[in-house]
Amino acid sequence: MQRTEDGMIIISCDFTGEDWDEVQPMIEGHQGSIISLVGLNLAIDHACEQSQKFACTMCLREHEAGERAWKPNPTPQGGNPRAMICWDCIRQADRSFTKDSDTDWDRKIAPDERWS
Ligand SMILES: [Zn+2]
Repeated sequence: MQRTEDGMIIISCDFTGEDWDEVQPMIEGHQGSIISLVGLNLAIDHACEQSQKFACTMCLREHEAGERAWKPNPTPQGGNPRAMICWDCIRQADRSFTKDSDTDWDRKIAPDERWS
C-alpha cells in the first residue's frame, strides 16, 4: 500500500507494515497492494484453510471457505488490517521471486501441474 509523508510517496507491505527500502523486492497486487519477501515467507509458513469465505487483497478474487490463505494476526504496526493473501497468489509470488535474478529467494513450494 501507499501513503504520503512530507510529500513523498511511501510504499509499504500490506502484510508486515514495513516500508519499501527501494532495494528489497516486493510484489505488487491489485489496487496497490504489496507483499514483501518477509511477508511471503510468513504466508508460506502460516497459510491455512479459512473457516469463512474471504477476498484476497492481492488478486481481489472471492474465495470459498475451506481454501487456504494467510492473514497476519494481529495486524502489524503500519499493516493493512484487511490484508489477506490466497494460496494462488502465494504460489505465484513464490515462483516470481525465484525467477528474479536480483533476489536471493529459493523456491519454497514445489512446482506442480498448475504452477510449473
Ligand atoms: Zn489472491
